[in-house]
Amino acid sequence: MSITRSISRLQAMPVQQIIEQYGSPLYLYDGDKMIAQYKQLNAAFGGLKLKVKYALKANNNINVLRLLLHQGSGLDAVSIQEVQLGLKAGFAPSAILFTPNSVSFEEIVEAVDLGVQVNIDNISLLEQFGHKYGNAVPCCIRINPHIVAGGTAHIQTGHIDSKFGISIHQLRHVLRIVAKENIRVNGLHMHTGSDILDSGVFIRAAELLFDAAGQFPDLEFLDFGSGFKVAYKEDDVVTDVEELGKVITERFQAFCSEYGRELELWFEPGKFLVSESGYLLVKVNVIKQTTATVFVGVDSGQNHLIRPMFYDAYHHIINLSNPQGTPRIYTVVGYICETDTFALDRKLNEVREGDILAILNAGAYGYTMSNNYNSRPRPAEVMMLEGKAHLVRRRETLEDIMRNMTDI
Ligand SMILES: *Cc1c(COP(=O)(O)O)cnc(C)c1O
Repeated sequence: MSITRSISRLQAMPVQQIIEQYGSPLYLYDGDKMIAQYKQLNAAFGGLKLKVKYALKANNNINVLRLLLHQGSGLDAVSIQEVQLGLKAGFAPSAILFTPNSVSFEEIVEAVDLGVQVNIDNISLLEQFGHKYGNAVPCCIRINPHIVAGGTAHIQTGHIDSKFGISIHQLRHVLRIVAKENIRVNGLHMHTGSDILDSGVFIRAAELLFDAAGQFPDLEFLDFGSGFKVAYKEDDVVTDVEELGKVITERFQAFCSEYGRELELWFEPGKFLVSESGYLLVKVNVIKQTTATVFVGVDSGQNHLIRPMFYDAYHHIINLSNPQGTPRIYTVVGYICETDTFALDRKLNEVREGDILAILNAGAYGYTMSNNYNSRPRPAEVMMLEGKAHLVRRRETLEDIMRNMTDI
């Protein structure tokens, strides 16, 4: 979806009314758009046994989880708490893949006890897993193919210094352990990074996985992680899902006939399913003219949406209250005692104190990365579904922040 399209979907919502009812700042989600994204992905891989495992670290609201569950999605969970949340949302244990990094073996055992599919990402845990379970419990192995996709250094996971996965160069060692402990490896996994722009990168990494797959006779699925890129800027190149679907379907079918069995193809999109469906609505507290710039100070900050500061991520912003205003250049900042700049030298329709701004692409890694710094409560979350607004998470209060504090 383009930024323009994302803006027009927002403008079709009764935003003013929602802000009046639920207050500001506010996370607003377009539930229908999430469903449409899920359907688009499934349609693109229609010729394969595709399983979508939504990466819930992107947005863990239980209503988002249920919406996708209803569409037939599974989950990719990276902590035992995410596994438990998925189970509470109603997912079958078998629909959940547990892909943790640097967790204790105890946490792996907990996941096995809950009946979810475990994805092992280091040799030490693989040995312990084999020692305890032999071939009684299948596992998936996370491979680092060392294929570096686009994006910034923060979100690349395939490079040589990465802590994620077992290096493809350690395959011999993996095979030794698997043979010795009689481990039933039912899946191979890779997740190369967050931005994959063309099917060529995907295929290059996939070839390594296909190669490795030949040495594991018990496979039921190959999991290609995520990397689907969505538009954050107007002219961003995004993953062409239909083109990717065509190229991968053909190659995957050829692989399966070579392998001798039709395997499932898994993907774990986070951003693709929920990023563009989310907007962070904020109110302008002050306009501050300095010698260097005009600051727009809003009633939110890095405590609610940290991506601009943490990853230097661009998030498009529009002034909902003054769509016809003369465009001017602003620096949009938060109210946190840190340099929490949402946008530098950004052209916005003239901004006045009290105006409502919308920060786009806030559906993924927005609320889930939020915090209580400066003792600020987190915003409420509202989901639009078939033209109706639903409160899906209440605004926090000071009581929430103090809940676990105890007196000496
Ligand atoms: C975060 C993550 C994803 C989702 O990545 P997106 O860029 O949000 O699509 C998928 N798989 C794993 C293992 C992850 O850690």
